[in-house]
Amino acid sequence: KNKCFILKLKETLMLIAANWKMNLGKSEIDQFSKILQSNEFHDSLDICIFPPSVYINYLNTRIENLPISIGAQNCYHEFSGAFTGEVSPTSLKDIGCKYVLVGHSERRVNNNESNLYVQKCTSAAIKANLIPILCVGETLKDRVSGTALDFIENQLIESIPSSFENIFVAYEPIWSIGTGKIPSSSEIKEMHKHIKQVISSKFNNSIKVIYGGSVNPSNVSDILNVNEVDGILIGGASLNPKDFLAIYHSTVKHLN
Ligand code: PEP
Repeated sequence: KNKCFILKLKETLMLIAANWKMNLGKSEIDQFSKILQSNEFHDSLDICIFPPSVYINYLNTRIENLPISIGAQNCYHEFSGAFTGEVSPTSLKDIGCKYVLVGHSERRVNNNESNLYVQKCTSAAIKANLIPILCVGETLKDRVSGTALDFIENQLIESIPSSFENIFVAYEPIWSIGTGKIPSSSEIKEMHKHIKQVISSKFNNSIKVIYGGSVNPSNVSDILNVNEVDGILIGGASLNPKDFLAIYHSTVKHLN
């Protein structure tokens, strides 16, 4: 069963991930789901929505007939115990999550999540049969000073467990998140190539790398035209169902 699952993952061409962050409530989820219900979906790509964790189940009940996966925005590195307020990866699996974001830059900054902490959460997610989407990204200072590639290499080496089968990396430059600024196509290409090379040389493994940071309906085609991009992580634009579906349809068009 596991083998089939891994095979299916390797066949997945593109991943569209929607990170709602701490936004949208029941009535907005109802409206969003209604619009999703009237959309036509194609099985050439995997879509995953990451709602606030308290609404995972609610969203699931609204869209369980659709080919859309559900994910969580974070998880803890233990499965159970006296950890007040934490979210167990096994509970997330239990309520139907397929993916989990780990190491998002907002959590690295606001919750002081270190690379080692992120590595522990990634390992726990894998053990719980979730697919981690490990977020990495440099600051503007690193980008401007020319140390972005080294910074990301170090983040990967310290955040990824030594052995793994299914992990996505999301390259999300911090200076691009929520700012409307995106790296040039050649910068995205260079970084995605670098991430894949680091995973191949240091971990003897291969990985899919998705891009995140100010993706919207007008810039998505240029981003997807970069060969090394295996999908996208959308924040702000995923809160508006029309924008989200416009990005979805551009991606489908890109694949055809
Ligand atoms: C994010 O924070 O994961 C993200 C991609 O945000 P935005 O699209 O709003 O830049």
